[in-house]
Amino acid sequence: MKITFVGSSHGVPEPNRHCSCIMIEIGENVYFVDMGTSAIDALRTRGISIDAVKGVFITHMHGDHTNGLIQFVDLITWYFKTPDPVICLPLPEAGKVIRSWLDITLNGEQKDIRYQETQPGVVFDDGILKVTAIPTQHCYKSFSYLMEAEGKRVLFTGDLKRPAVDFPAVVHEGRLDLIVCESAHFPATEYIPVFEGCDIGKVCVTHYSDRFLADVLTLRKELTDKGLPAVMATDGFELIV
Ligand SMILES: [Zn+2]
Ligand SMILES: [Zn+2]
Repeated sequence: MKITFVGSSHGVPEPNRHCSCIMIEIGENVYFVDMGTSAIDALRTRGISIDAVKGVFITHMHGDHTNGLIQFVDLITWYFKTPDPVICLPLPEAGKVIRSWLDITLNGEQKDIRYQETQPGVVFDDGILKVTAIPTQHCYKSFSYLMEAEGKRVLFTGDLKRPAVDFPAVVHEGRLDLIVCESAHFPATEYIPVFEGCDIGKVCVTHYSDRFLADVLTLRKELTDKGLPAVMATDGFELIV
């Protein structure tokens, strides 16, 4: 699976860093975790068919994770008419809001979009990718997503309250080939005791803000010194798992 950080910024765009949006390619299929910026731009720029998008998994409804969604639904409604992804939303009433927006901005019929409420447990399994939602305490109805494909397991934490409070317990339940985690709300060094003794292949910090930059650099050094590779995402950064 190939993971591309389309947007690696925190709640506010930074120069050359858009808000949260992560693209996952598995074979011919494409999935997204969050759409805080334009996913369609990323697909068009890379020459990837919009039809390839099979699933969108929103961790929580804050704008830095959802502001690209209305554009995505808009364009698969009136222009790219054949994509039919499942869109997992913690608050599915947002789907009705997008429909209302499109009702007043588009003329003509709207197709049915497959919105699905994110609830704890397995939310998606197309035989290629299995996605399990794990509640967090960042805000009302916020989730991490555990993604399993090609024999690999990757955890996207989404936004957290604090690692010691709501880091998903799955970190203690078998190997995680990659953890993608944030550092906008607390120093990234708070992950170090959580990761102690866990079987982790790599850590990637995204959604970090400048006020915690020194801590992200410290985390990267301390984990790498212990033999756990740790990297920082920027826009366009790619990882193969
Ligand atoms: Zn956020
Ligand atoms: Zn948030």
